[in-house]
Order: sequence, then structure tokens, then C-alpha cells
Amino acid sequence: MIRSMIAISCAFDSGSIEPLDTADPACLRVALRADSHADIRQWFHFRVSGVRGLACALRFENAGQATYPAGWQDYRVCASYDRNDWFRLPTAFDGSVMTTRFESPHDTIWLAYFEPYPAERHLALLGEAQASGRARVERLGASIEGRDLDMIVVGGPSTIVAGGPAPPRAVWVVARQHPGETMAQWFVEGLLRRLLDRSDPVARAALERAVFHLVPNINPDGAARGNLRTNAAGANLNREWAAPDAQRSPEVLLVRERMIATGVHAFVDAHGDEALPFVFIDGPERVPGFDAAQAARLDAFRRNFRLASPDFQTVHGYRSDKATQANLSLASKWVAHRFGALSVTLEMPFKDNADAPDTRAGWNGARSARLGEAALVALRADLGD
Ligand code: ZN
Repeated sequence: MIRSMIAISCAFDSGSIEPLDTADPACLRVALRADSHADIRQWFHFRVSGVRGLACALRFENAGQATYPAGWQDYRVCASYDRNDWFRLPTAFDGSVMTTRFESPHDTIWLAYFEPYPAERHLALLGEAQASGRARVERLGASIEGRDLDMIVVGGPSTIVAGGPAPPRAVWVVARQHPGETMAQWFVEGLLRRLLDRSDPVARAALERAVFHLVPNINPDGAARGNLRTNAAGANLNREWAAPDAQRSPEVLLVRERMIATGVHAFVDAHGDEALPFVFIDGPERVPGFDAAQAARLDAFRRNFRLASPDFQTVHGYRSDKATQANLSLASKWVAHRFGALSVTLEMPFKDNADAPDTRAGWNGARSARLGEAALVALRADLGD
């Protein structure tokens, strides 16, 4: 029987890998590729073709030189045959090489660092939002490479209740400053779907008190290019908020301008953490001017989030003496400082929630979306009665 040649390729949306050797299915070899304009290696997304029925072992030869090698400890590679259902593969990391194993019943298997959030799904989400009649889609401008930078606005004058509080406050949610952290956009999708649900009383109550500004993907260039952490100028957008630059970080400049126009009552900046297998938030406690009222709001937000989702926890997170203290170039710190807002960095795992592991899927898009739904409960509680 003639068998097709094994091929490893990544010439598609958010694809990234460097194929090294495909001669022997028992020793397929690849290397993690750097971000397009920065020396950062972690994200991968590629297909392996011609492997039906073969017992394959695939080696990431430079895993030990990744930007976050701790990310490979207890990590398992994500895989899919249909690009909808993603599951985890047995994976081992010896400190230098990461090896994963699979035996595919199909000719092609897709592998990724985490369940991707496709560009086409992003466009469909915009369409769904505006066709719902409850949201509008605003193009804030263009990325460095000319991709659309979109914001979805839910609520506004049409939902203001007569005699109710006015003008409505602005809640902001931003995802994918680090474009390879696709769980962040899955989170926004879940939050948005709940906001658009006319039968949901939490959504209705929230929209009576605030207008929601959602930026589902603030780094479309990095996402398309398969970058983990940077845009098409090599900028880490979450270090650009103190002084965004039209050439280096127009994406942040555009969002920040709009935030200044609306004011910010509450802000969630959604991320994924490579190493920690937990969901947690990093607050602005060490931002200059952080006061008792902000502390009380932050504590209540954490409590309410925990009640709304058992996946959220407050035991594990970044240490309180972290070097990023009072670094106002970070989005959530800058927003807390500028607006006195409830302002948090939300971190979800690339691996799994170690408190509630899913052996088949690990942490994934669906769980991130459920977390987004739960976040609305905590945000609504913060908006008050
Ligand atoms: Zn991040």
C-alpha cells in the first residue's frame, strides 16, 4: 500500500512551528518558532499530515529554550481531528526536549499549545453581536499591519431605564494583549453571549447600570502570525499603557483614547498563565493611590467571582511583592491609577485547573467561556443594586 508522506505545516491563521524532520513517525522533530518580531518562543499550532494509523512520537527539540520552560512541567499538548473538539495528548518534558505521542485514526491531526481562537470565529462573533440588536460593533482603527481593531459595545442609551441611574458607567474587558493567550478571547465570548441573552436577569441588571465595552482581540497581528506575546513591532502590549506609541503600539493607543473618553468604572484584562494551573486575578494593590474603598471593591469582587464560579480561586496567584508592583505600563495598573476603577488582570491556565482537573481536555475554550459567564455575576454585583 502506498502511504502518503508525513508533512508538518503551519501556513494558516495563527500557525507556528519549524519542522525539522518527518522521515520517521517514531521520531518526528520540530522546533518552537520565535514571535514574528521578538525573541519569544512558546506558542505552537500546526498540522501533521499522513499519519493515519501510525504510532507517532513528536519531539519539540528546543522546548528547554522556551520563554517559559516552567510552562512545560505537567503540561499536555492540545490536539484535534476536526478543529472543534480539542483534547490533550500524553506529553513529557525532560528539561530540554518535550515529547508528545499520538496514534491518529485520521490522515491529519492538528496540534496547538492551547485551543486556538480562529480569526474567522472572531468575525462571526462580531456579526452575532451586531445582529442581536443589543450591541454594536465599532472599529477603533487599524493594527500595525492594517488589521481591524474591533470593540463590541453592549448596552447604552436604549437600555437605560426611566428613573434609573444615569449616565451609565463603563465596564471594559480586553483580551489577547498577549495573542497566544487564546483562552482570553474564549472568556470574552462567554461573557458577551451572556450579555446578549435577553432572558438572563443578570445581564439585564448589569446593562441597566453600565455599558460594556469588549475588545475581544487587541492584538490581531500577533494572533494571525502565531505569536505568543507580541505585536508586529515586537511590542509586549501589556508594557505599553503608560506611553503607547502610534508606531510601536497603536492598538493600545486606540483603546486607551476611547477609555479616556468613556471613563472606566471596572476593567478586566484577560490573560493566560503558562506556569500556574489555576484561575486567579492580580489586583492593583500596590498602585499609588490605591485606597480602602478600592480594596473593599476588590475583595468583594474576588468573593463574588468565587461564588459564581468554583474554577476561580484566591489561594494561588502572583506573589504580592512581585517586581511588577506599581508598574503603570501594565493595563490593569494604569487603569486603576488613572480612573480609580476596579481593575484586574485575570489569569487562566494553559494547563488545567489543578483543583478541578479535566483529564481529557484540561483547561479549554469552553471552560474559559463559562468563566466569562460567571464573571458577569461578579461585575454585576460590583455595579450595585
Ligand atoms: Zn498575558
